[in-house]
Parts: sequence; structure tokens; C-alpha cells
Amino acid sequence: MNPPQRKDLESPVQFLKGIGPELAKSLAKLNLHTVNDLLYHFPRRFEDRTHLPELRSVKPGQFVTIKGRLSRLDSRQVGRGRVIIRALLSDGRSGIYLVWFNQPWVKRRLERYRGEIIAYGMVKDGQNALEMHSPEYELLEEDDSGEDFARITPIYPLTEGVPQWLVRKAVNSALLHYVEVVEDPLPEKILHHYDLKTLKWSLAQIHQPNTEAHRLEARKRLVFDEFLAIQLAMQMRRALQQQEPGNAFEIPSNMPERIAELLPFKLTNAQDRVVGEILGDMSLPAPMNRLLQGDVGSGKTAVAACALMACVADGFQGALMAPTEILAEQHYQNLRALFSKSGLEVALLVGKHTAKQKEKIYSDVANGKSQIVIGTHALIQEGVSFAKLGLIIVDEQHRFGVMQRAALREKGFGHPDLLVMTATPIPRTLTMAVYGDLELSVIDELPPGRQAIKTHWRTPTDRQKVYEGVRKLISEGRQAYFVCPMVSESEKMLAQAAEELHRRLSTMIFTELRVGLLHGQMKSKEKEAAMEAFRRHDLDILVSTTVIEVGVDVPNASVMVIEDANRFGLSQLHQLRGRVGRGKHQSFCILVADPTNEEAIARMEIMVKTTDGFEIAEEDLRLRGPGELAGTRQHGNLDFKLADLVQDGKMLEVARQAAIKLINYDPDLSRPEHRLLAKVVSEKSTSMANLPVA
Ligand code: ADP
Ligand code: MG
Repeated sequence: MNPPQRKDLESPVQFLKGIGPELAKSLAKLNLHTVNDLLYHFPRRFEDRTHLPELRSVKPGQFVTIKGRLSRLDSRQVGRGRVIIRALLSDGRSGIYLVWFNQPWVKRRLERYRGEIIAYGMVKDGQNALEMHSPEYELLEEDDSGEDFARITPIYPLTEGVPQWLVRKAVNSALLHYVEVVEDPLPEKILHHYDLKTLKWSLAQIHQPNTEAHRLEARKRLVFDEFLAIQLAMQMRRALQQQEPGNAFEIPSNMPERIAELLPFKLTNAQDRVVGEILGDMSLPAPMNRLLQGDVGSGKTAVAACALMACVADGFQGALMAPTEILAEQHYQNLRALFSKSGLEVALLVGKHTAKQKEKIYSDVANGKSQIVIGTHALIQEGVSFAKLGLIIVDEQHRFGVMQRAALREKGFGHPDLLVMTATPIPRTLTMAVYGDLELSVIDELPPGRQAIKTHWRTPTDRQKVYEGVRKLISEGRQAYFVCPMVSESEKMLAQAAEELHRRLSTMIFTELRVGLLHGQMKSKEKEAAMEAFRRHDLDILVSTTVIEVGVDVPNASVMVIEDANRFGLSQLHQLRGRVGRGKHQSFCILVADPTNEEAIARMEIMVKTTDGFEIAEEDLRLRGPGELAGTRQHGNLDFKLADLVQDGKMLEVARQAAIKLINYDPDLSRPEHRLLAKVVSEKSTSMANLPVA
């Protein structure tokens, strides 16, 4: 490999001053191959070494950095192959024992070292002196260049076999020799407008801040960059989508009257507003790309029905895709009941049909006889083709992959309109990060007359009382769900757990009642029969797995008991709970749980405290971080180096506005001052190709 001719951020690290091929090999273990990689390998934390505490002032429970010399190094064999190393670090007045477990190489290293050592960790009360267990440490004369030791020192993320001093040295060298060639992708105007520091300055200060205030300024700039790249990529995609020729629906002027005729109830204000937003999009020539968020029970189906009606009124077909057969079936029954009054043809297409039935459905869909088609994945089978599909609605969209939505869109007439619905509220910051290229409608109001569900947390020892409570409600004419424990992700094990719970409840507890069973391993026909029996009130109790999590709507069911509730995540508990509280009766959700860890306890407490899905989503984000939230799991857009969606929500909003402005002004970033920005964004777009957006 020849050294680069010119100073280039893509230069291999081995050509950095002080780093050779050997050290470069170590750095490669951290995926640090180029100078640029080093500049963007940010410190995990900093140690303020401008004033280290005196050892005698240090208290148990504190995280501190301490400095001194070692004495009394010894190692003790405890049990087979286990070894404890202890050494006294003292600053001349007092001392703290450093303790390592099963790291024999630490002893070898410390034995021959006489200089000062610096250690970081939590201080604990030991037997007769303070201790620090498994501290991070540095031997000052070996590990640190020693130059300007008394400063705020960056501590980098490491991996096995890559010492702290090496990363520090490499980054230091990269900054020293290369930071001058860093070009800023942001034009001066933007820096000025958003009060941001230059990239050069920020990269230097994020690694080696002069003050905490400087570090924060640097971080602000770099977080802005992270958000801006994604937001620009999404806004560009949005602009592209808008240019596609879609269908401009002619919306009849008497829509409000038609809606009033269609629905047995009056739309809530929120539903009314959202219907207006959707019909507004549909009437435009550009294809609609809209996300409809509404908490469980907020009445998204009625909104979907209004959109479908408008679509059919202009001679197009509409399709509604649901993630499960149970849900598709239920939508079908509801919508058919609504639309039959006006003589519209509604078809159901799911996997269970016989070949003969399928043939008939396919032909009705293909020749346009079926005006509204409701189904599962069966809708995107190869044999299905539509006469004139103008509107696609995807329910519980996070359960579908990109490909599935795209496949349905392919069957459309030109570029069909798309409405994706979700009952999994996600915090606004996440919505922007993940679905920034969709228009957003939110139903933020529940239909009138709903009583808030009362949620109680009971321990397993209270079970008898819980059963008595359920029995009483059933004697008043209500119905109950029992959700079996989430024993595993495996459908088979879940089915067994449900069967077991069903057996116990029907043969030992509620022997006088009608107890049904529903789980994912049952045949379609059996599932449907169980659901139908529960709906008709031929069953008092339905024992189920989480297959009832989405969409199931039986208003007379007013109590849900969730067994081992601590095994479920917050959003799942919220979805499950949404199956009750759908009618006029006071409803209850009983969490039977005996959690031992704090996070699970917090989940139970949040469920008891609130029924607001958005609040729950915010809490979920706080408890688990963005990577784990339903609907956004493993989402590439959430892969930030510095940004933190909980902490940096405001900055995300700023970056989003900046992106919208920029794209309005320079839609394909072709202006010369945006050359570098365009490059950053095109790299981002490539890595975003897998976004869950149709
Ligand atoms: P989700 O948003 O969870 O899909 P649904 O569409 O299933 O909610 O609606 C929940 C329940 O509320 C249904 O029983 C539905 O008939 C009822 N509902 C919806 N909108 C209204 C309204 N405006 N007034 C009264 N009841 C409504
Ligand atoms: Mg729904």
C-alpha cells in the first residue's frame, strides 16, 4: 500500500504519524480503517483530570477518577481457576484498594510498573478500606503520551485487544494532521441561521473539548448533522413521490351527508378532521402517502370506511389489507354491514378459501364487480389483479414489510393512494425519525361515552379474588378475556400455554361457565368459530394468546385478565388492554404479575397510571430506548452515533424544518453550495433503502 499523495480523509490509518501497519491492525478490530473513521469514533465519556479528588475525600457510591502509585500488589487463588488481584493505590495520605477478578494479565502488567496510575470506577466499602472493583485504569508512563495530562480526557469505546491509549493516540494524530482538510457540507448561511459551529471545530471539540460548554456546542452541531442527513433523504423521497402522477379523485360535494348515512354514529371532531385531510389528499393529482395514527379504540375503521366510500364513488376500487385473518374477517363483517345499505360490493380474500372460491373472488376483483376488497397477505398473491384499484389502506402497518406494501401498490391503477394506519402510537420524535416522508394524521380523541378502563395490578396470591371479580361481571352479563403468559416467542409453546390455562379455568375454576380457546396454531375455521362464538355471546370467557392483540372488537367484553403480565412489553399490554373498554360498560384490565426487576415494576405502574397510548409510548421510549419500540425495531434510521431521541427531540424538529426548507429551495440539492450535502444524503438514502415505507 502506498501512502496517499494528498491529504485525504479516506487515507488508511496506517499512514498516520505514530501509527504503523501493526497498530492499524489493532484499530481495524474497532472498524477504524480510515482517518475519517477515527474522526467519527466519538468518546464514550470524559474524565475531568483537571482536578482529581484527594483520596481521603472520596466516598462509597461515587464514580471517581483517582491517581496515585501502587503498593501491596497480591493475587489470591479462590476456587478452581479463579483469581482475585488486589493492589493499594495511594496518593501519599490515604489509599483505595483496586480489585480485579480473573484477569491474571493485570498482575503481570502491574508487577513491573513503578510509575503513577490512574483508575476510574465506583467506590465501594470494603472489609476495612475503600475498594474499587474492576476499574478502568491507565499506567500513565506507558499508556498516555503524558503531554497534557491534566485536562478533560476522552475515554473511547474499545474492544478486546485494543487499548485506550492507542485509540487516543490515533484520534489525536488524525485531528492534528487532518482536521484542516475537513470540508463543511453545511453552507455558511445554514450555520449562521441555526447557530451551529463549523464541522472542523466540532470534530476537534467533541474529542478534546476545552470546556464542557464547548463539548456541548460540538455535540449540537454533530447531532444536527445526523438528523439532517436522514430528514433530507426523506424529504427528497417525499418530493419524488409527489411528482408521480396519481389519480385525482372527484370527491362528491355531498360527502358529509353520505358519511352521515353510512355510519351509525356521528364522527368525532378528530375523525372528521382526519377524514378531511385524507379526502383532501385523494382529490389531488399526486398520490397520497399518509400515516394515520390513532390509539386503540379511537375509531380508525370508520375513517377508513369514509375514504373507501369516496374512492368507490369515483368509480375506483379500494383495498384494505389487515395482518391477520381474524382481523380481516372482522373488518369485512363491519364494512359489509355498513356498505350493503348503499348496495356496494364488498369481498373478502384470505388464505382459507378453496381453489374454487378463490377463482370466483379473483374474477370479481379483476372485472371490477367487487368494489371494496378486504384481505390479508392473500391480496398480494400473484393471481390477484384489480380492475381499477385507486386506494390502498394498510391496517396495523408495522406488521407488514416494505415488500408487501409495495406489492399491493403494484396492483394499483397508475400510482394508487396509500393510507397506512397504526394503533401503536409512537412518540412524535420517533414518528419524525422513521416516517418523516409520510404526511401524518392523528386521531387524538376517543368516541364519546367511553369510560376509562380501570387497570389493577394483582399478585398471583390474589388470584382467587381476581376470579371472583370476573365471575361477578359475567353474572351481570359481561364477557371476559384471559391472556395466557408469554412463555416464549414460539407459537407452539404459546398454544400449549393457552391450552393449559384453558384447561385449568374450564375444569377447575369456572366450571359453570362457557370457556372458549383461541390461539395461533388452530385451523382458520376453528379460530373463526371461536371468535364468532365469543362475538355472539355463546362464550363467557375467551382464553387466548396475543392473537387477539390487534383489532378484535367485542364491545360486551369488559374485563381482561393478563397472566404473568410482566412478561409483556408496554405497547403490547396497551394493545391487549384495548380489547376491552369498547362498549358502554365500565371495563377492567387485571395484570397478574409478580415482577422482580425494576423495569418490569415500572411497566406495571405505568399501565395502572394511564390509558393514554401516547403517554405509554413516551414512557416506553424512556424505559427501553428507541431501538426496541414496536414498529421501529431495528430501524436503520435510529442508528445514531451521538443523537438520542429522548434527549434531542427539539433538535430533530429543527433539523426537519431545515430539511423541508432546503428541499423547497433546492429540490435535488444540485446547487454548488450543496454539493457535499448531496453526497452525504445519497449515502444515507442508499442505507435507508430498507425503510418500512411503501
Ligand atoms: P380502532 O381505531 O382501534 O381500529 P375501531 O375502528 O375498531 O377502533 O373503533 C372502536 C369502536 O368504536 C368500534 O366499536 C366503533 O364502532 C366505535 N366507534 C368508532 N367511531 C365512533 C364514533 N364516532 N362514535 C361512536 N362510536 C364510534
Ligand atoms: Mg383497528
